Amino acid sequence: MSKNKQFVRFDNVDKSYDGKILVVKGLNLDIEEGEFVTMLGPSGSGKTTCLMMLAGFETPTHGEIYLDNNVISNIPPHKRGIGMVFQNYALFPHMTVYENLAFPLRVRKIPKDEADKKIDKALSMVSLQGFEARMPMQLSGGQQQRVAVARSLVFDPKLVLMDEPLGALDKNLRESMQYEIKHIHESIGVTVVYVTHDQSEALTMSNRIAVFNDGKVQQLSSPDKLYEEPVNSFVAEFIGENNTFGGVVSDISGDTCKVKLDSGNEILANPVSVKSKGDKTTVSLRPERAIINPSDKMDNNHKGKIEEVIYHGDHTRLRVNLLGNNSFILKVPNSSSNLDIKSGKDINIGWNSKDSRALDPK
Ligand code: ADP
Ligand code: MG
Repeated sequence: MSKNKQFVRFDNVDKSYDGKILVVKGLNLDIEEGEFVTMLGPSGSGKTTCLMMLAGFETPTHGEIYLDNNVISNIPPHKRGIGMVFQNYALFPHMTVYENLAFPLRVRKIPKDEADKKIDKALSMVSLQGFEARMPMQLSGGQQQRVAVARSLVFDPKLVLMDEPLGALDKNLRESMQYEIKHIHESIGVTVVYVTHDQSEALTMSNRIAVFNDGKVQQLSSPDKLYEEPVNSFVAEFIGENNTFGGVVSDISGDTCKVKLDSGNEILANPVSVKSKGDKTTVSLRPERAIINPSDKMDNNHKGKIEEVIYHGDHTRLRVNLLGNNSFILKVPNSSSNLDIKSGKDINIGWNSKDSRALDPK
């Protein structure tokens, strides 16, 4: 059977809480059955609101949401068959681990012997077999979140929503839980809609990422595309590290344009969101796309001055003054230590025009 490409579908959804300001604006988003899609964006960008509408705790002001081709606006939350893990949707503190997991099964009137099998399976997915009799307060934070994940999956939902489920955990535990959740997703193939403001979490876990800002999806792409081919300045700045140059298009033909920078220099760029001569732009270039003293012929090659050298273990970061940008960042792998890199030195910096993306002006 082929997978439903529109398993979850937001169709032109608006949301306002006060009848005036839209916190979600014209949202169109299709999620394929079995996909892991993350809503990523700064605080207040509308991510949780979208998840709440999908779960049924909030109603769209305009537009429709579909689940497996059915309009869900008239289905109450507990009948949508959706598993949930929210940071503030904690375990029942007065119930054991077993009882916490039995709860969603009892609501669905699953017979006890079948329920016990499901509970056993869900606990083994999160490596917590043997913890059935514990109370939540007898578990570490990470174990509690694993029980919450098990509880969201125990009734075999077709869709699971997770809103910042790892937000309260420390960095190491958060990272290992990211892999754990990712592997559970891969092994059981459930559809996951995940919310986070942490870009590395989103890049690690997701098939696709929807970058939110100001109530709108700025870009919906696979992690690598999002990083390599941001479609606007917001995404370029929000994901990873980014060097920018402000300027005006002075010539454009085919897949290259010339940008006259505020400093007066000209660079060659990839005309992603500029159309004609005179358009203002912010050119975006990832640090690792810029090469020191390039041996290959690169169509951008300019002299810069090293301002600062910062040792980072596996690589060295250079802050360079280049074409009027005095916080241009370069990364040099530490194996190529033959370079005489010291602050105050002049160096040549090269890159290919296709890697410097002429985007909307900041
Ligand atoms: P995110 O999850 O991306 O941080 P939210 O969806 O929580 O964003 O919030 C989006 C906007 O909606 C914010 O401006 C927030 O203050 C507002 N908001 C969220 N929940 C409510 C609510 N229950 N009542 C009124 N305003 C809300
Ligand atoms: Mg939120």
